[in-house]
Amino acid sequence: MILQVTVGCSHNRCSFCSMYLRKKFRVRELEEIYYDIDYAANLNRNIRRIFLADGNSLTMGTDRLLSILEKLYSSFPFLERVSSYTNPQDLLEKSVEELKSLKESGLTLVYLGVETGNEEILNKINKGVTREEMIEAAVKAKEAEMQLSVTVINGLGEEEMMFEHARDTSTLLNRVEPEYLGVLTLMVAPGTPLAKQVQKGEFKTLSSRQVLEEIEIMIKHIDLSGCIFRSNHASNYLPLKGTLSEDAGELLSLIDRVLRGGETHRLRPESFRGL
Ligand code: SF4
Repeated sequence: MILQVTVGCSHNRCSFCSMYLRKKFRVRELEEIYYDIDYAANLNRNIRRIFLADGNSLTMGTDRLLSILEKLYSSFPFLERVSSYTNPQDLLEKSVEELKSLKESGLTLVYLGVETGNEEILNKINKGVTREEMIEAAVKAKEAEMQLSVTVINGLGEEEMMFEHARDTSTLLNRVEPEYLGVLTLMVAPGTPLAKQVQKGEFKTLSSRQVLEEIEIMIKHIDLSGCIFRSNHASNYLPLKGTLSEDAGELLSLIDRVLRGGETHRLRPESFRGL
């Protein structure tokens, strides 16, 4: 079940993101949220997984979040997991003790958009944090023993910074050790600052071949164990999945066959890509 506890994203300034462009950020009233929980529980008490929407519910005060979690676990007796997106800023603002109390109250998984591990690109896309702050935020979630799922985006460094983007993202991931890693491919969403940069010729997207080269560099530099890796989102040219770094050889071999062995039929056509 998706439970809306906030509306929009409190940051809402990443240059590529159109998710909440038209939504003014606000935290919903507790009464409204409780009403929704009661309504859903009356319909189906057997729900096992709940996601707190929208973009960053962790921006709410810890006490408020704890009350919501308590209400959820008492309303749904079979509830196993509550998860949420988080901004790095939200993790930085909470203490590890606060995050631990949230984890112990059932917020067991957070999704963090890392996007890139490169300092210059983080700045260009207006992520609002430095590389070290991103690492600190992710490590805090890990210290609180929350499961961490991160996403990174291929193509953010354009052609000039392909290598730096891939390498620095991998070294960041190595320090953070997420349980889940999702790799998306940049799509230019209308209405975003990035779309304007593309229009003015200030930003160039990568070809499908370059995107694969970038993923190849990334996988070569990743040194993890048991990280569930997915690059099979509709934005990706080549669907990939495995466990890193255990399956790195297999993944690299597939990429190599597409890049250099003529298996280009495996690539998703541009018109089939979507967000
Ligand atoms: S990418 Fe995440 S943090 Fe950035 S504007 Fe979009 S929802 Fe907000």
